[in-house]
Amino acid sequence: MWKKLIKNLLLIEDNPGDARLFLEMFKGEGLNNTEFRHTESVSEAEKYVAEHAVDIILLDLGLPDAQGLEAVRRVCAAAPHVPLVVLTVSDDESLAAQALQVGAQDYLIKGHIEARGLLRALRHAVERKIMEEALFLEKERALVTLNSIGDAVICANISGNITYLNLVAERMTNWSHEEAEGRSMAEVFRIIDATSRATVANPTELAVRKNRTVHLPLNCLLVQRDGIEIPIEDSVSPIHNREGTVIGAVIVFRDVSVAQAMALEMAHSAQHDFLTGLPNRMLLNDRVSQAIALAQRHLKKVALLFLDLDGFKHINDSLGHPIGDKLLQSIAKCLVSCGRSSDTVSRQGGDEFVVLLSEVDQADDAAITAQRMLQAVAEAHSIGQHVLHVTASIGLSIYPDDGLDAETLIKNADTAMYQAKENGHQSYKFFMPAMNVRAVERQSIEESLRRALERQEFALQYQPIINLRTGEITGAEALIRWTHPTRGPVSPAQFIPTAEDCGLILPIGNWVLREACKQAQAWRHAGLPLATIAVNISAIEFRDERFLDGVFAVLKETGLDPRSLELELTESVLMKRVDSTGSILKTLRATGVQVAVDDFGTGYSSLSYLRKFPIDALKIDQSFVRQITTAPDETTIVTAVISMGRSLKLRVVAEGVETQEELAFLQAHQCDEAQGYFFSRPLLPEQFAKLLATGISQTVLS
Ligand code: C2E
Ligand code: MG
Ligand code: MG
Repeated sequence: MWKKLIKNLLLIEDNPGDARLFLEMFKGEGLNNTEFRHTESVSEAEKYVAEHAVDIILLDLGLPDAQGLEAVRRVCAAAPHVPLVVLTVSDDESLAAQALQVGAQDYLIKGHIEARGLLRALRHAVERKIMEEALFLEKERALVTLNSIGDAVICANISGNITYLNLVAERMTNWSHEEAEGRSMAEVFRIIDATSRATVANPTELAVRKNRTVHLPLNCLLVQRDGIEIPIEDSVSPIHNREGTVIGAVIVFRDVSVAQAMALEMAHSAQHDFLTGLPNRMLLNDRVSQAIALAQRHLKKVALLFLDLDGFKHINDSLGHPIGDKLLQSIAKCLVSCGRSSDTVSRQGGDEFVVLLSEVDQADDAAITAQRMLQAVAEAHSIGQHVLHVTASIGLSIYPDDGLDAETLIKNADTAMYQAKENGHQSYKFFMPAMNVRAVERQSIEESLRRALERQEFALQYQPIINLRTGEITGAEALIRWTHPTRGPVSPAQFIPTAEDCGLILPIGNWVLREACKQAQAWRHAGLPLATIAVNISAIEFRDERFLDGVFAVLKETGLDPRSLELELTESVLMKRVDSTGSILKTLRATGVQVAVDDFGTGYSSLSYLRKFPIDALKIDQSFVRQITTAPDETTIVTAVISMGRSLKLRVVAEGVETQEELAFLQAHQCDEAQGYFFSRPLLPEQFAKLLATGISQTVLS
């Protein structure tokens, strides 16, 4: 078989007698298919192999142009993959041994060569070369693999000394293969426990001792040669020889800092609010429970502050969410700076924050913190080019007085916060058991509201709107009134938000619109025409997709001239989703329905939108009108709105005019229209009809 592999044999021999002898031996040994070439020097052979295929070379080590190992090296370099058998003289057997080290596969000693020995040497050389090549390839493949995997690999022998490091291991330990080789594993692969910082026993010894794959304990750090520490994960397996005896170990490890950072980050984000970075509801609950356990042991109190911003929705709606988000971040910082490091400020979502004060001696301490937080929040927040002012309301609950667990305490602080809001903004309120009664009450309002329409408990009152130049009643604002069967009158400021919350505002608003239009038509038919009837539209109604259809249906049904209808919308309603707002307003304008901006000045209007939207009137909020009498120096808003209205060609209506002084001021500044108790309170239809018939006394206006 192997003989077939030798198709071309090259003999490098300067002695013609020896050469002849060899050739004869070959011929006699069945190498019939083999071509024999013969050169007399290494240089000649080099030339030959450069151009011809050769399957085996016999090389005499005493040639004229190269002797000994030199000759071996040159031939190996010229024909690196060709098996080589060297020929030496009998007294130089050590040279032959060296030749094997340098690249020859076998040797023969001249004078002791007989045909069988020669053949054996050839065969041996061929087989050995094949094996060497295979081994080389195998080793190469292993090496490339080891260097291209992402894991670090270190091999050690049975005494724990390093025999190999791949590239990743070099990088991670900061030891090069050459420097590390022969050193002890403990020196190159130093591991400590991340928490205790104690040196961890080298796992290779364990793997060798137990003769199985082992792992490092969790939470290990590899200390690099320069002292830098990296978290790693590893496995160590014993290496066996052919007999199955353990001769060393291979350790495979990887840098888990990224994975660990990610896990930490995930754990963090599961417990923290993404916007402010504050603990979230989940983490707060944990902390409250911990604080309760601690307070119980030390006989202390725990306080919870539930903080909600006043009118945050306005800011979000008018200035947009990005500004709203930045404001929340600013508030978060503010609150954190007010508390002690042991306190937990958390965000519940939206504009709600809950602050945990652990180990409080008395409730008053919590009140001081609450007051401090209210003040801090109320300071100006610069967000981009905006300087925003916002206030908050805080409800407080105390452990153990107001609850024994996190859930109850948070719920009660929330209830107290609502109470604080109802008492006026920027205040705090301690929880009182009676407050739950109020929460129940709110719910009962909702239940009664559901029945109010069918039981006809609603009525409309009309407040005249007066032209300040002529003194004529040019319009009326329809204002809803609810008489609860047991409670009596409930103010719209109280039930409209509840109706909005539960969606009941849609049927109620539709009823108001129909009722007001019907009434306006009735007066017209009675010879008491009004230029406009104004109806308040809540945000929920305006955003309802059937809103326009509803308006047009009512106009058609009642026969009211669309130009006589004026819809009052607040600024925040207009500023939200400006695209759809614009198109709704355009449709209204096309049919003649008028639009007034209600409570103008209390929201955050963008003036450019005011210019863009088809709007007919601005209603100055009564809080600004009130300034005319209470703060005569701060009337700039009123005058600014009047002059702005004039330049945008909008009617300006002053709301809530109560005194002669206010009226005089508005007249002096040429405000177009006004309404308020000074002229008339909102009236039932019959009373209003009388007023329409008689008109507002001219003396009032002069
Ligand atoms: P608004 O649209 O700004 O209505 C003006 C409010 O000021 C009315 O309160 C009116 O009674 C009150 N008012 C008028 N003149 C004076 C005055 O000289 N001094 C004072 N202090 N107050 C004056 P009301 O009727 O309690 O309504 C409160 C709010 O409830 C209204 O504010 C409006 O936003 C809403 N509302 C009333 N009726 C409806 C309705 O039918 N639908 C909707 N969606 N909202 C309504
Ligand atoms: Mg109004
Ligand atoms: Mg108003």
